[in-house]
Amino acid sequence: MRIKEKMGSIPVVFADRFFMSEKSLSAITALGGFFWADSRDQEDLVQQLGGSTSLRIIVSEYIRIDLQVLDQAPGLKGVIAYGAGYDHIDVASLTKRGIAVCNCRGENAQAVAELTFGLLLCLLRRIHLADRWVRENEWPKAGRILPEWAMGHELRGKTLGIIGLGQIGSRVARMARVFEMKILAYDPFAQSLANDLGNAETPPLEELLANADIITLHVPLTPATKGMINARALAKMKSRAVLVNTSRGQVIDERVLVEALKHNRIAGAALDVCAEEPLSGDHPLCSLGNVVLSPHMGALTQEAGDRLSDAVARQVRDILEGRRPECLIN
Ligand code: NAD
Repeated sequence: MRIKEKMGSIPVVFADRFFMSEKSLSAITALGGFFWADSRDQEDLVQQLGGSTSLRIIVSEYIRIDLQVLDQAPGLKGVIAYGAGYDHIDVASLTKRGIAVCNCRGENAQAVAELTFGLLLCLLRRIHLADRWVRENEWPKAGRILPEWAMGHELRGKTLGIIGLGQIGSRVARMARVFEMKILAYDPFAQSLANDLGNAETPPLEELLANADIITLHVPLTPATKGMINARALAKMKSRAVLVNTSRGQVIDERVLVEALKHNRIAGAALDVCAEEPLSGDHPLCSLGNVVLSPHMGALTQEAGDRLSDAVARQVRDILEGRRPECLIN
């Protein structure tokens, strides 16, 4: 059965599956209700919508929302990206049709900034290897002489290169201060923020790449940032530098990254995101010992989930009641 038949006059569809608190769901229920489409992909969502005229708002974390979807939702007023990234939404086409596009920027920034350090510390102190080693009963065999890989590196005194100094990047900069790191930041659109941070230098990108010991990516995926970390950029990095990516996988040319890591042209990478998700276990990245991986879980904390779902509920209300939503993009 299509959403059209199932949802009756319900105004809100959640395109895919993400966390929504009971409190936010109750708030949306009071505004007319919601329907979980749980779509596998865009085609599935399009099929389900089937020209529903009652639908006013779609909330989507990953499902692409473009003209194909709009054509099946003639009464649509707004699209909300669940999270900060909105590269899955065709903002230009939606704007032309007068549809509001919003995200929930800032609500998950603390969670992603904390995971950035979690991954980085894991990579530099080999926590992932150590945990497995202890569980596999290797410690009693080794006694006091631990394997060579257990010798890690400290953050203190290292130079952190932050690319993208928005909600997440600026939090990472503030946390880095506590670790007594030197900060280089590159963000052509946030110079004033870099000045406010006080402890950040803002060299050109090439200089940041060449001088940082750790590079962390916090840019949105746009035509300008797609493949930003390519063979040229990787060649500029120090051979003992490491790269952390909690932004979007396609910001890095993954093929050249794998080669660089394989041949130790850089020392390691910690990646929460990859070019094609979900990452298959037989992907070359999974066979590299100098890589730490996580399954795009940067925003996944209970606290961020509560804040995100509150932001969704507030913006649903604003759109339905004809007000400007707080994180309008267009
Ligand atoms: P934000 O919009 O607050 O910050 C992005 C910053 O990048 C802005 O300051 C912008 O000026 C800068 N920027 C844009 N183009 C740039 C370029 N070409 N070079 C350098 N800087 C550039 O967004 P945010 O909340 O900090 O999130 C950043 C990205 O992180 C999101 O777009 C999303 O893709 C990703 N993200 C991932 C997760 C996860 O689960 N891993 C969760 C949230 C966000």
